[in-house]
Amino acid sequence: MKIVLQNLTKIFPSRNKKSHEEVVAVNNFNFEIPDGKLIGLLGPSGCGKSTTLYMISGLQKPSSGKIFFGDDDVTELSTENRGIGLVFQNYALYPHLTVKQNILFPLQNLKGKDKLDKDTMLNRAYEAAKLVQIEQLLDRKPSELSGGQQQRVAIARALVKMPRVLLLDEPLSNLDARLRLQTREEIRRIQKETGITTVFVTHDQEEAMSISDMIVVMKTGIVQQIGKPQDVYDDPANLFVAKFLGTPPINVFSGRVKGGTLYIGGDAVMDIQTVADQEVTVGIRPEGFVLDDNGPLKCKPTNVEVMGRDVSIVSTHDASLNPLVRSIVNADSKIDIGSEYVRYAVKPHKIFIFSKETEERIYFEVK
Ligand code: ADP
Ligand code: MG
Repeated sequence: MKIVLQNLTKIFPSRNKKSHEEVVAVNNFNFEIPDGKLIGLLGPSGCGKSTTLYMISGLQKPSSGKIFFGDDDVTELSTENRGIGLVFQNYALYPHLTVKQNILFPLQNLKGKDKLDKDTMLNRAYEAAKLVQIEQLLDRKPSELSGGQQQRVAIARALVKMPRVLLLDEPLSNLDARLRLQTREEIRRIQKETGITTVFVTHDQEEAMSISDMIVVMKTGIVQQIGKPQDVYDDPANLFVAKFLGTPPINVFSGRVKGGTLYIGGDAVMDIQTVADQEVTVGIRPEGFVLDDNGPLKCKPTNVEVMGRDVSIVSTHDASLNPLVRSIVNADSKIDIGSEYVRYAVKPHKIFIFSKETEERIYFEVK
């Protein structure tokens, strides 16, 4: 089921009685979510992710704009009639019911023509439990389960009605690091097996990048960029997106373009074409540095961290907008931490420049 968001907007009235300032939680969101895909809705806390999800679910009404499931306009349709499965951060299972009863619950509430007989319900509950691999836990109470198992029950409960659309709001936030990793792979597997169009909300860029077919990066209610995770990482539209994606994060410098040369501080880093003279912000991905005795970028080394396959060189540069510059280089590289400078060349496809004023990307060609 494809989902179309058309000029979707949500404005909340001010909570503060004295000020009349309203909050534009979601601002004119346009997107066609392709059928059967998993979309990661990504951005910092407060950027409008949950509000978008709640509008898709029908829990919140848009201030303006429309939502379509396939060709059906569902904007005015109630949550129960949308055919969605919802999973929240806190699993919200019924504590006094067993796992089986929790999963059965949505089916027992079906009315009229949707009503199912007991065997069908039990079969469906068992299938859903099997899908999330908790079929051996059906008789336990939620208090007898780990966090990861509880979240699987919540997912099974969302799947048991065979929804057209699965909506997940930070479903892994309450799990410890290992379970988070494991459960996100499970979610991906289940999504692929069922082919249900899924929207997955998270503030964790790595999580979104690792499981999504496409990501949507949001900031203050406004969509910044939509694309395949790798494409957005390789080709960020603005400084915000460049900084939001990647661990370790992108290195940011103040720089300037003058006479076809890009400078970082006093270092003439690269000859570039088609960019007028101006002040810019420069981003270099950690993997974009190449150790080179004659390289143009001169940093002062402070530390070397070995991380298995790779080595991370920590250094400083006067024009860096962060306290430290972090590069990742091959473990075989020879680094003399005692030397005055570590010198780098920069891979052209790993360096981005942005307007200092608007923070939008400035595209260039390498001479
Ligand atoms: P996210 O899920 O990305 O953290 P939300 O969608 O929850 O962000 O919130 C987006 C913005 O809308 C925030 O500024 C938040 O304070 C505001 N907001 C969310 N829900 C309400 C509400 N019911 N009333 C007023 N403001 C709200
Ligand atoms: Mg939220």
